[in-house]
Amino acid sequence: MEESQSQSQNKTSGGRLYIVGIGPGSIEQLTIKARDVILNADYVLGNSTYLDHVADLLGTQKIIRSSMGKEVDRARKAVDLAKDANVVMVSGGDTNVYGMAGIVIEVAEHENLDVEIEVLPGVTAILAAASMLGAPVVTDFSVISLSDLLTPWEVIEKRLNLASEADFVIALYNPKSRQRKSNFARAIEIIRKYKADSVPVGLVKNALRGEGEAQIVTTLGEVMEHEDWVDMSTVILVGNAESRIWNSPRKDIIITPRGYQRKYDY
Ligand code: SAH
Repeated sequence: MEESQSQSQNKTSGGRLYIVGIGPGSIEQLTIKARDVILNADYVLGNSTYLDHVADLLGTQKIIRSSMGKEVDRARKAVDLAKDANVVMVSGGDTNVYGMAGIVIEVAEHENLDVEIEVLPGVTAILAAASMLGAPVVTDFSVISLSDLLTPWEVIEKRLNLASEADFVIALYNPKSRQRKSNFARAIEIIRKYKADSVPVGLVKNALRGEGEAQIVTTLGEVMEHEDWVDMSTVILVGNAESRIWNSPRKDIIITPRGYQRKYDY
């Protein structure tokens, strides 16, 4: 008993760094482990939006808010504090999907940080959106961010071309920002070189956030009619050649068959 107590004390005094995916938004989408780790933290760092999503869990911890675009400073701060405190860096969705895991671990490597680093997964936007649209993914898929802040646009175009040619289901993250209004239109233009106009497209805003949640089911040929609706809280899912729309009695649902129809009658 005494031994295990002193072990856990040693852990705390040595510091610990958690990089935590908090899921798409509303608190019930958080894993139980993520919730426990946030509740027990000495420090919680994150951008304001994500900290607001977990506001109900914040009380005694010291909170360090920072703004978008300050990720490197935030990562440095987290690594520094983790040398002798229990630190949680929160990141929206999954922290490995355009999230904070990358920069935090790069900074930790640079500092050769000698504390436990734990990355906790979360529900990423493609999966949150897919759950609202029905079964649009189910088979091989490709996730492409249209943000050219850290990735050259030529690389993004190449990935759009090859993923479309290979007929992956494609999820587009970061479709638009004030500086990059035309990236979405350009991406759709590229995808349409390979995929038919009849291919279903789902646009989902604030997936599983409760507030502001909205979705549109359309096709590749008609998606540009909704261009103005697309913003940085939107993820777009483009189906493959076999995807179809079920106009169900309740709502339009996207289905991408896995292939059972080739083997079974149902
Ligand atoms: N780490 C996050 C993604 C960060 S990049 C994740 O795993 O989901 C930010 C982009 O993700 C946004 O521009 C948007 O395209 C998408 N996104 C994140 N959360 C979303 C949500 N709840 N609904 C729709 N899109 C979302």
